[in-house]
Amino acid sequence: MDFNIFVQMKQTFISSLSNLLETRQKIVLIPHKNPDGDALGSTLALAHFLTDKGHEATVVSPNDYPAFLEWLPGQKDIVKYTENALLAKEKIAQATVIFTLDFNDLSRIDQLEPLVKKATASLVMIDHHEDPKAYAELMYSDKNASSTCEMVFEVLQALDEQGLSPAIANCIYTGIMTDTGSFKYPATTAATHRAIAALIEAGAENTSIHQKIYDTSSFDRLKLLGITLSSMKKVEGLPVVYMMLHQATLNSCNYRKGDTEGFVNYGLSLEGIQMAVILIENEGEGKIKMSFRSKGRFSVNEFARKYFNGGGHLNAAGGMSEQSMALTEATLISALQETQNQFDLEA
Ligand code: 5GP
Ligand code: MN
Repeated sequence: MDFNIFVQMKQTFISSLSNLLETRQKIVLIPHKNPDGDALGSTLALAHFLTDKGHEATVVSPNDYPAFLEWLPGQKDIVKYTENALLAKEKIAQATVIFTLDFNDLSRIDQLEPLVKKATASLVMIDHHEDPKAYAELMYSDKNASSTCEMVFEVLQALDEQGLSPAIANCIYTGIMTDTGSFKYPATTAATHRAIAALIEAGAENTSIHQKIYDTSSFDRLKLLGITLSSMKKVEGLPVVYMMLHQATLNSCNYRKGDTEGFVNYGLSLEGIQMAVILIENEGEGKIKMSFRSKGRFSVNEFARKYFNGGGHLNAAGGMSEQSMALTEATLISALQETQNQFDLEA
């Protein structure tokens, strides 16, 4: 039943999009702030596709991204608002169509939010996060999808009989791989694996992509991982662990954007642990950035939304705190105690 409604929505979305793209458009594609593999993979894949079809397409990112993504085909042409605000503003103001990919709430694009709200372009959303906001004229939202990249794959397959270029295949493969934890999270389906097979046939260099993303750590990053793991604490009486990273520690390991990616997941590799949290201090922004991961029914999306001004998915979410590290730690523990009936606790 649900499935039929979803399929209808997807078909309606694809035919409306197809109509919109019948004439040449000036297109801007926007990933969320601090874009990850899925956000960059989906925007770049779609940008390649649209350019190949004769449209003008530019990816405009709210800010920079980690070095391990700096090889993605087309990434050199991304306009970063934090580095070139004027050009970003101009592109958004002149756009006839704006795609927002891998987020569903305009607050996730920071300073780009007022620009997009003012824009005259048609807005299109493709996304897999929970609780979408209804800001787009065309919206394809599926919280069960493994990744935005898998959704883009389906859209491109439906729009194009010609097949996917190697550049598109490499971008989409990257997003599916990173968002599924290399094809192991529960949202990974047989359809995901069929998409992966088609992408490898279209030229995705699977082994090389994996190496570029996961095997390019610096010595400093591994040292930082060691310190982070040593900081891990278990919450008394609950199946939860958390780690804290102070700015001074980040500095001592010459922190670079992306270095802490994946650290939080180590907490979930502990037997019997259902939730892992990392608190990362950002002195520059005066914030503690938080990442939440869970296994099973505990919704970190709801938890992050309720207590830490964030959100995301059932089992992976982010949030933030403007309190000190010590106060954030105390708030976290009392929030967990308030929510403890959501865990599967043994009698
Ligand atoms: P991460 O912990 O890796 O930053 O994010 C985990 C997931 O939650 C990602 O899918 C990310 O897009 C989402 N997410 C992270 N921070 C926020 C936030 O502040 N608000 C919302 N709605 N989602 C977030
Ligand atoms: Mn995603």
